[in-house]
Amino acid sequence: MTLLTQSTVNPYPHIYLSPHLDDAVLSCGGRIWQQARADERVLVVTVFAGTPPPSVPLSPFAQALHTCWEHPGDAVAGRREEDRAALALLGADLAHWAYPDCIYRQSPDDGFFYPDWESLWGEIHPAEGRLIEELATRLATLPLLRGGALYAPLGTGHHVDHQIVHRTAAASGRALTCYEDFPYAAEQQSAPEEEGWREELVPLSEEALEARIAAIACYRSQISSFWADAAEMAAAVRAFTNRTGSGRPAEWYWKSTRS
Ligand SMILES: [Zn+2]
Repeated sequence: MTLLTQSTVNPYPHIYLSPHLDDAVLSCGGRIWQQARADERVLVVTVFAGTPPPSVPLSPFAQALHTCWEHPGDAVAGRREEDRAALALLGADLAHWAYPDCIYRQSPDDGFFYPDWESLWGEIHPAEGRLIEELATRLATLPLLRGGALYAPLGTGHHVDHQIVHRTAAASGRALTCYEDFPYAAEQQSAPEEEGWREELVPLSEEALEARIAAIACYRSQISSFWADAAEMAAAVRAFTNRTGSGRPAEWYWKSTRS
């Protein structure tokens, strides 16, 4: 058996940071497919892909979400499987980091950090400082090719896990490309809060758009969070990408002018 260490990983020209097991594909699936199709290697790193420790009970909120997702057993393992299928379809490699989603995070002193729906869209809990420091250290070890592109969510929609990934990536000092967090961006467009970004419109071929839709459909447990069914999702992706490209499908990015 060969141990895969940092020094043996062939660096990637494109690394996407995905807060959850679906975000990079939801937002950037067309571009990922086009890059992979052009033989540019792509790695999608899902930051909050960890299984919560079995020794601690889930909050009632997390239990309710598991029921919604129709994953009665290990919900996160089911979602990782969905991610494998989606990224295989797009032709990208993946890494699943073991940090749990915010719905599972807690401490003995503070209890659950995000115990209900409203708290997901509020401010980052003050006890998350250590996690953010750890993520910053981890980001510094990503196998990114010199001059390669690191993609991170803009944080549109203000989900706490998206905010954490955006802030950590923006503070990393690496040249960054931000993507609009779909489907939140369909409701509310936004731009980076910090200075120093230029816009980048990436046109999608019809094939790339279809690949993005097919890959999103792999996240079967998550469709019901946003849409009635896969057909409604496909229509929403088509409408949003067409609006983005003023009548032709496109994805919208913000590129740091440091790059
Ligand atoms: Zn997300």
